[in-house]
Amino acid sequence: MDYHIDTKAIQSGWKPKNKEPRVLPIYQSTTFKYDSGETVGRLFNLEEEGFFYTRLANPTVDAVERKLADMEGGVGAMLTSSGQAASFIAVLNICEAGDHFISSASIYGGTFNLFAVTMKKMGIDVTFIDQNATEEEIQSAFRPNTKAIFGETISNPTLHVFDIEKFAKIAHKNNVPLIVDNTFATPVLCRPISYGADIVVYSASKYLDGHAVALGGAIVDSGNFDWNNGKFPSFTTPDESYHGIIYTETFGKSAYIAKARAQLMRDLGCMISPQNAFLINLGMETLPLRMERHSKNALEIAKFLNSHKKISWVNYPGLEGNADYRLAEKYLTKGASGVVSFGIAGGREAAAKFMDTLSLASIVVHVADARTGVLHPASSTHRQLSDKQLEESGVVPELVRLSVGIEHAGDIIADITQALEKC
Ligand SMILES: *Cc1c(COP(=O)(O)O)cnc(C)c1O
Repeated sequence: MDYHIDTKAIQSGWKPKNKEPRVLPIYQSTTFKYDSGETVGRLFNLEEEGFFYTRLANPTVDAVERKLADMEGGVGAMLTSSGQAASFIAVLNICEAGDHFISSASIYGGTFNLFAVTMKKMGIDVTFIDQNATEEEIQSAFRPNTKAIFGETISNPTLHVFDIEKFAKIAHKNNVPLIVDNTFATPVLCRPISYGADIVVYSASKYLDGHAVALGGAIVDSGNFDWNNGKFPSFTTPDESYHGIIYTETFGKSAYIAKARAQLMRDLGCMISPQNAFLINLGMETLPLRMERHSKNALEIAKFLNSHKKISWVNYPGLEGNADYRLAEKYLTKGASGVVSFGIAGGREAAAKFMDTLSLASIVVHVADARTGVLHPASSTHRQLSDKQLEESGVVPELVRLSVGIEHAGDIIADITQALEKC
């Protein structure tokens, strides 16, 4: 039975057997016990499914991975210690030193640094492109050693909507996979695999957790990409570090996620803790309800701001007239998520005053949890930058980012109204 996503959010993952706990337990154990050395051998040879060490797999983590894969429509998933670890492994599982990949320039700052600086030092080269470029322009960024394309469904913080079908088409024409960071949309608002994405990554620290209590990340494998096209020998030739296993032969459709775990989680060890997986699972149970409310509140607030004389511009993809409104209509049919950015007409000083005057919305650098949060980058995280440098980075001096929570929209609007009166 293929349930609706609302049902999967509750029912998928943990399937207790007779007399087992109804609710997913926290298996706070690094270690698992066996009756014979034979069992251990079969587990180690990946001939039998099971647990042997929590760095590779743990029953609590496993249940959450199954739930996410089910909600996303993938063949398997792997949780990681953070979203950064997920993006790193997602690319490193495909590219090695000497390889190249293409990324949209409209991505999270942490991911941008990871790609532009740290992975570059490891010998993996990236080209950033304008995601509104034509197919021909994007095609011209390809090289013989290009191995993947990367983009964000709704970009953090610029809130651009990624044209997944356009990029899937270009990627597949070039025999490389498309990786999509779906952190802001979640599987509730968009399922990138249904538009042709091959791999989906998450910062689970945002809406999946939803309460700002646990760091985590995830990679979901669609199972749809054919690694056997000559470009990806690490999938189709023996892995000497794993007694000669050939991932495409042993794991078929799950080759990508099996290799990510057997090779990279084994070596890098950026596993999520069972405790954090448990908390993220709890958050995911209410994800469909929360995303509906986040999106409804954010749209109402975006409309309110759009008609306010002290607001110079509003950026929310779900707002009619937004540059990406058509893309939002196509990819975000259930809502455009909870983050809204806007400009205060009075500029840098007025925006700083506005942020400090809000009382319900708290000043936080985090986004995407149940509580409304606000940030004026120019007077906080980007304080050391001049107005000119801010303009260049796209974070203009008057920009305020609001992560709209699931409180009553009227109360959030009242808070914004009183703060705007004072700035
Ligand atoms: C926060 C974020 C990340 C990084 O995730 P962490 O869990 O903080 O490591 C990656 N991508 C997007 C879109 C994010 O918002």
